[in-house]
Amino acid sequence: MYDPKSLRAEDFIDHDEVLASLEYANKYADNADIVDQIIEKARQRKGLTHREASVLLACTMPDKIQEMYSLAEQIKKDFYGNRIVMFAPLYLSNYCINGCVYCPYHRQNAHIPRKKLTQEDIVREVTALQDMGHKRLAIEAGEHPSMNPIEYILESIRTIYSIKHRNGAIRRVNVNIAATTVENYRKLKEAGIGTYILFQETYHKQSYEALHPTGPKHDYAYHTEAMDRAMQGGIDDVGLGVLFGLQSYRYEFAALLMHAEHLEAVHGVGPHTISVPRIKHADDIDPNAFDNGIDDDTFAKICACIRLAVPYTGMIISTRESKAVRERVLRLGVSQISGASRTSVGGYCEPEAEDDNSEQFDVSDKRTLDEVVRWLMELGFIPSFCTACYREGRTGDRFMSLCKSGQIQNCCHPNALMTLKEYLEDYASPETRRIGESLIQRELENVTSERVREIARRNLALIEEGKRDFRF
Ligand code: SF4
Ligand code: SF4
Repeated sequence: MYDPKSLRAEDFIDHDEVLASLEYANKYADNADIVDQIIEKARQRKGLTHREASVLLACTMPDKIQEMYSLAEQIKKDFYGNRIVMFAPLYLSNYCINGCVYCPYHRQNAHIPRKKLTQEDIVREVTALQDMGHKRLAIEAGEHPSMNPIEYILESIRTIYSIKHRNGAIRRVNVNIAATTVENYRKLKEAGIGTYILFQETYHKQSYEALHPTGPKHDYAYHTEAMDRAMQGGIDDVGLGVLFGLQSYRYEFAALLMHAEHLEAVHGVGPHTISVPRIKHADDIDPNAFDNGIDDDTFAKICACIRLAVPYTGMIISTRESKAVRERVLRLGVSQISGASRTSVGGYCEPEAEDDNSEQFDVSDKRTLDEVVRWLMELGFIPSFCTACYREGRTGDRFMSLCKSGQIQNCCHPNALMTLKEYLEDYASPETRRIGESLIQRELENVTSERVREIARRNLALIEEGKRDFRF
């Protein structure tokens, strides 16, 4: 029985409700009046229900689709301005006891080299990341009780936060590890993590069980209810995501929004972020073996519809996607991107040899961070290395209420400029620096509060003198 307030996965992601939503979407997809009403609701910045958003996703009327894209772009501008937050993944270990059929780290893959970073390796990897200019990491590890126990993850987080190389520092560690217990989530919270991220992969229970034939991840309910446990453990900011390509994208889309509605209904705060990965080639994995792949147009439409449905939720895209695809979806709603990522364990210090294929997925966008930063600025975006919110205790419902009132803009914009300035001073090439300096001067004028603008101006001058880590 569908019940968004239930703590049982099969109630809040009720299969029949997903199917009924898809039926509803088919019925009204090309009904101009209904589509107009839904677009109008989205225009009020009220968000959309999973049924309403599913109608938009199913709509095939070109003029309405264009309207959705324009509105998604406008909402993106209203809530996120022209800022894009930067991050990088850090793979700690690819030991894993699960049998996920779409991931090269699955237990049965006997020929992939297994690696686990020691604390000394982590120091080297993080130093390399700091030397690129990164301030925000997402750590990743396979599920392995003896190789990657929670103590190893906690120790690694402590190590990461402790490393200070030149002016470098990792100021926010987001964590992407397997579903775990309330007690372990509490430990992660105490370790000072930013967002806890867990991809659902697929919400379709039958497919989920087939795609995860062995290992603890096989348990659909335990995995799907993980965010509730995380929130019970005190983690305010959680990140959802599905792996598009495993199941019908329309099913995943409706269920993903049902999951967001469930978190809002039970915990009073929706997901902090939504990630939109698509299945990619990797060792042992052929994406063509999965027959639900989506083309670039559908992918763009999904991103736009998510932006309309959950205007306050950050949207993340990785280097799985090419430069061209990234450019398209940045305008439609994506607010965070990774740059210069290595998706193998230890890949920042020792790039992989040709025949040592241990990446979790092939990277499409292989540019350096400097190139990505410059490209963003040339497109009119402000690359932001801001990590202020959780360090200022602005998490969960406190963060959401600031978002909803629009007040967060007074922090995000100057923080973006100050952290970009740090990047330009410490890591940028001369050309990137030149472009960045004039962007900062222009954008400073767009800080609406005179008082904030003055403080930001003063701090920018202090950064030039060598001071670091200012934030609103
Ligand atoms: S997706 Fe995660 S849990 Fe599954 S095999 Fe890969 S690393 Fe292990
Ligand atoms: S001020 Fe907060 S919401 Fe804005 S970019 Fe920084 S961390 Fe994100």
